[in-house]
Parts: sequence; C-alpha cells; structure tokens
Amino acid sequence: MNSFSKILVTFLLLTAGVQAQNEVYTTPVETEIADTTFVRLRDYSNDFIYDMKYATEDNFLKAKVYDCAECMLRLKTVKALIAANNDFLKKGYKIKLYDCYRPLDIQKKMWKIVSNPEYVADPKKGSIHNRGGAVDISLVDITGKEVDMGTPFDFFGIQASHNFKQLSKEILSKRAYLKKVMIKNGFNSFDSEWWHYNLKSGLKDKVANQKWKCD
Ligand SMILES: [Zn+2]
Repeated sequence: MNSFSKILVTFLLLTAGVQAQNEVYTTPVETEIADTTFVRLRDYSNDFIYDMKYATEDNFLKAKVYDCAECMLRLKTVKALIAANNDFLKKGYKIKLYDCYRPLDIQKKMWKIVSNPEYVADPKKGSIHNRGGAVDISLVDITGKEVDMGTPFDFFGIQASHNFKQLSKEILSKRAYLKKVMIKNGFNSFDSEWWHYNLKSGLKDKVANQKWKCD
C-alpha cells in the first residue's frame, strides 16, 4: 500500500468511527496529503521523459542499483518540478529525469560499490536525493531529442561544472536556461553538476528509506 492509500484508508476508518459514535453522516472526501509525503511523479503528470540511469547498468557504477525505474519524490518537490516543466513546455522543451528520490538502502549500495565522497554521498550524511528533494535532469526538445548540455549525465570532470565556460555559446545558454527556470521554481543548482537540482524547502527534510513496488 502506498502512503497515499494509507492516509486515505486511515481517514476512511476515522470517518467510520465518527459516524458510528455520533450518527453523523458526511460524504467522505479525500484528505489533503502532506507536502512531505512521498508520491510517484507519474501519478501527477504525463509530461516528463524518464531515463532512470541507476535502474540500468548504463551509469558510472556499471551496476543496476534499483530493482525497477521509478521517480518518487516528496509531494512539494513534485509540485515544483511540474511548475518548472510547464515553463519549459511553453518554450518547446520537456524535463528528462535521470534520478529522483534515492532510498537510503540504495545510497548504501552505491557507497559499497564506490566509497569515494567525490562521486557518491556518504550514506552516514545522506544527500538531498535521500531526502526526496533532489532531481537529476536535462531537457529534451519538441522532437524528443536531448539538448546538448556539453557532457553526459554523471560526467565527473570540470566540464560538468556551471563555472566551466569553455563551451559553445549554445551549450552555455542551454545550461543557463535550465538553471534560470529551476531557480525560479524553488530549486538550487549545484555548481559541479549541471544536471543536479535541490528543492530549497527540502534541504532539511529527513533522510528516508521509503521503498516503491515493482510490478
Ligand atoms: Zn543528483
């Protein structure tokens, strides 16, 4: 049962209890779920492209660390990401996702493969990915073609930095555009990785180990 269903069931049970005691009959309504609840992005929007690299071996770990691809995030991150995507859609672009929320157990698995804080966050500290507030993204254009951002996702080198300026004007302007729209919608950029964005209001949320079901 996902957390949303849990909340709904809890609410229905509570409502049933109130009705039994007070003979009050109300129409059950869905409760508003907390902004910090973990939800699946695809339950809220069909306008994203998914390329979840850690659910494949096509990543720097050369290992598939997720059983299946899923983009889970806290609800507030989903809301901010949809708002950003709507801005991109108006200009003919869409967000492509490489990674979203990363359960702590997965972080531990990654750390076991590459125990180097330059490449993987130490699970003792946890990253914003473990808090449900970080996304790794790029843009695709109207034809579905990935926008050239100068390096691939998870390229570990100076060329991936926002501060690296020896790139074509076109690439620099695309990185700047991605950054501008994300910042406008409540995210922070990360200097050394053009693809990584943290929701500002999610920086202090707890590290979590929520799992998702694979079909
Ligand atoms: Zn990231």
